[in-house]
Amino acid sequence: MPRITLPDNSVREFDKPVTAAEVAADIGAGLAKAVIGAKIDGELCDSATLITNDVEIELITAIDRKAGESTEDALFLLRHSCAHVMAEAICKIIPGVELVYGPPLETGFYYDIAVPEGRPLSTDDFEAIEAEMAKIIKEDRPFKRYELAVEEGMNKLKSEGSKYKIDNAERAIEAGSDELSWYATGEPGEAWEDLCKGPHVPSTGRIGAFKIMSLASSYWHGDADSDRLTRVYGIAFADKKQLAKHLNHLEEAKKRDHRVLGKKLQLFHIDEAVGQGLVLWTPNGAVIRNELQNFIGAELRKQGYHDVYCPHIGKLELYKTSGHFPYYSESQFVPIMDRDFLKKAADDGCSCSELANLMASGDIEGYLLKPMNCPHHIKIYSSQPRSYRDLPVRLSEFGTVYRWEKSGELSGMIRVRSFTVDDAHLFCREDQIAEELNGCLSLVKMVFQTLGLNDFRVRVGLRDPDSSKYVGKSEDWDKAEKACREAAKSLGTHVTEEPGEAAFYGPKIDFIVRDVIGREWQLGTVQVDYNLPKRFELSYTGSDNQQHRPVMIHRAPFGSMERFVGVLIEHFAGAFPTWLAPEQVRVLPISEKSADYGNSVLKALRDKDIRATIDHSNERIQAKIKVASEMKVPYLLVVGPSDQQDQVVSIRARGLRQNLGTLPVNTFVEGVCSEISSRGKQTIISEHFQAVEA
Ligand SMILES: [Zn+2]
Ligand SMILES: [Zn+2]
Repeated sequence: MPRITLPDNSVREFDKPVTAAEVAADIGAGLAKAVIGAKIDGELCDSATLITNDVEIELITAIDRKAGESTEDALFLLRHSCAHVMAEAICKIIPGVELVYGPPLETGFYYDIAVPEGRPLSTDDFEAIEAEMAKIIKEDRPFKRYELAVEEGMNKLKSEGSKYKIDNAERAIEAGSDELSWYATGEPGEAWEDLCKGPHVPSTGRIGAFKIMSLASSYWHGDADSDRLTRVYGIAFADKKQLAKHLNHLEEAKKRDHRVLGKKLQLFHIDEAVGQGLVLWTPNGAVIRNELQNFIGAELRKQGYHDVYCPHIGKLELYKTSGHFPYYSESQFVPIMDRDFLKKAADDGCSCSELANLMASGDIEGYLLKPMNCPHHIKIYSSQPRSYRDLPVRLSEFGTVYRWEKSGELSGMIRVRSFTVDDAHLFCREDQIAEELNGCLSLVKMVFQTLGLNDFRVRVGLRDPDSSKYVGKSEDWDKAEKACREAAKSLGTHVTEEPGEAAFYGPKIDFIVRDVIGREWQLGTVQVDYNLPKRFELSYTGSDNQQHRPVMIHRAPFGSMERFVGVLIEHFAGAFPTWLAPEQVRVLPISEKSADYGNSVLKALRDKDIRATIDHSNERIQAKIKVASEMKVPYLLVVGPSDQQDQVVSIRARGLRQNLGTLPVNTFVEGVCSEISSRGKQTIISEHFQAVEA
């Protein structure tokens, strides 16, 4: 008879098979009411699943009591169940639709449907569908599962005649199912039903809140030559509060979209004539990039790094030595052919397809737009003999690299074809790895903290033990993985280990930051590499006068400047801290009478290297303030005759409705200077207007 082990290791014994719902009832009436499903020996199941053996069980409630919100499992159950409810409602509103496939997603769910000829589904239908869904949910109908043997089940599907459902069943059978299952929303045979593996919540009434979000077109099996389908997206939550929070979050994300803000604030431009995925940094964006580069450059010099510069191409042979070609050739631009080689190929009568094959296989003489900066830096290391006393050698460069991303995957600054890595390569002795890793990690941490990205976690990427894509000796991998683990642990933040996430040449530590609205972005990375030093036969002379092999560390705290700035635009919603803001102060003379005084204030600011402008337009002051506010300028200085008389400025700070007050011109200038040099640790407000801050 089943012995049931709960997550707290307590055990309950039953003298006959029980369902998860009955286990919940045995624990307490409150839990019985709240349970919507269960994980039985790790598998998500209906709460009505009958348990006959000894198992470990985790009861799933709509809202997890400890976390105060729904777990991923709870959301899966709610969303998948809501997809059924939506499908039933659509079938009722648009007779003749055929259902194809409706999985839950991390962000909600969708259902792919085939609409009848001449009756497209439009957003105008949402209201009616949602009303029908609300009715089904109010009726609180049970989800009832039944199963049929494969043959009987296939006969049933064939008699119903939906090629889509027959296809789904065939796939399930191919994947090893020995039966087919259906879920009826009510009594089987009477109520609406769908071929489905489950699991589901016990009844429709458990779906607390939902919304149909959008439509998209899709293709059967994702194949553009196959049937065209309509994809209906929806979301579901345990209650209205969580739905509202989610909608609010989406709204906020939309307002922060770096592509929209990038255009409005004139930070960057992507031009079809230049090429997709090729970011043009316009003057405002260039200021931000420069400031970030100066910021990190100064820190690197403190840590003993040396700047280097390299060309944007290198010989194809170089990347064959490094292994970047052909390991990553799919994500690279095709090689650039040497002119002499091309002429020779033409003279030899080489056909187009032969030439294409040669290029793809790399059997040519030519160059590669660099996909990585490492090989160039390695050649700088090996350009002179190195002794153990010279190590570590730390070479840094904001190096631009090129990747072939599919055009459908390009997006603003986040997914691009050319980007600049805040790259560095450290060549060190094995006994220096731990210290160098710690140096890299503390740099990354400092960068994130300065930018207010305080919520980050660390992922240690390890080998996938079942894959053969990795190069290098197993013992070296073990050592490198150990060093990464230990360094990551020393950061004192949340660390996860993920097999399969390593680079092909070594393990890595990735930084995943959470922005102010809770989205996660993978940014900086630190990687240990035993492989490239070997491939390039790098060496140094040890204290024993013998030749030894150095270890390399690749690291990039920001990752790509494009991606990083894209993330920062969204993180700050365009309102950059003063030290990063393209325009730090704007002077707004009230009228022409104050123009000269305004110019003298402007000069005082510019003399101290503050990025300031003046608005001499004939607009009224309120209009000038509005224009400057839209550009998210941190400080606006309104100057009129009385300010001139007192030699002060009236200060408006970004995001505050009223004037802060006035300060003497020089006091303001000094205040901004220390706000900039302290990178926001001291501000005009914290130094002079503390009452406002409180
Ligand atoms: Zn289902
Ligand atoms: Zn590298």
